[in-house]
Amino acid sequence: MGVQENLAEVKSKIDSISKKCGREGQVQLVAVSKFHPASSVLEATAAGQILFGENRVQEASEKFCEVLEKFPAARLHIIGHLQRNKVKEAVRIASCIQSVDRIELLDEIEKRCAEIGKDIEILFEYHTGEESKSGFESEDGIRAALKNFSLGKYPHIIPCGFMTMAPFTEDESAIRASFKKLRELRASLQGGFPQFNLRELSMGMSGDFEIAIEEGSTMVRIGTAIFGARSER
Ligand SMILES: *Cc1c(COP(=O)(O)O)cnc(C)c1O
Repeated sequence: MGVQENLAEVKSKIDSISKKCGREGQVQLVAVSKFHPASSVLEATAAGQILFGENRVQEASEKFCEVLEKFPAARLHIIGHLQRNKVKEAVRIASCIQSVDRIELLDEIEKRCAEIGKDIEILFEYHTGEESKSGFESEDGIRAALKNFSLGKYPHIIPCGFMTMAPFTEDESAIRASFKKLRELRASLQGGFPQFNLRELSMGMSGDFEIAIEEGSTMVRIGTAIFGARSER
């Protein structure tokens, strides 16, 4: 099946599950196009997809240069571990950085946004599963970051919520527990920082997005089910 058929199928699954949970229209689809060419992204935009996710800044930058020429409405979220020396370019090309996993990164994002006069959205990546290596390890770390926001330290950054990856396992209860942890984290931090709108829960990938939506996901990041298998992992 081609990208457009896959996309239609994924969207209809998202619709039916979110409807079943009484959350119709509340789940955004991020089409994860890493390791797939600009031509595949453009197949998706032709079918109405606007929002994309990429892991690596270099790859994303080259690809989206071409995509944006042909489809200026496309939007990009960075979802992979971000090195400090890639922040400048990441900030230039993305509307959101979902993988903020340490406070130092916020300092660099603020600096680079200020240079070009751009505001950017971010999500805090939280480590909820055994096998994922990235993300804040503790709620306190994110609390400290939000404290900085409340002190006005990051005028060009808008904190919008949280992102996680569930463990790669067949064990549905472990996956569900991971998503539940992110939902509880949001409840706790939103309570502590009512001045911010921490609405987003970015959770769920090709293999587990049904569970993620049941657990409150507002944003699913789906690659393989749309673009097909990648030649890496
Ligand atoms: C690659 C990736 C995805 C998409 O994974 P699929 O299993 O191909 O849907 C989602 N989130 C992150 C952070 C990724 O790196």
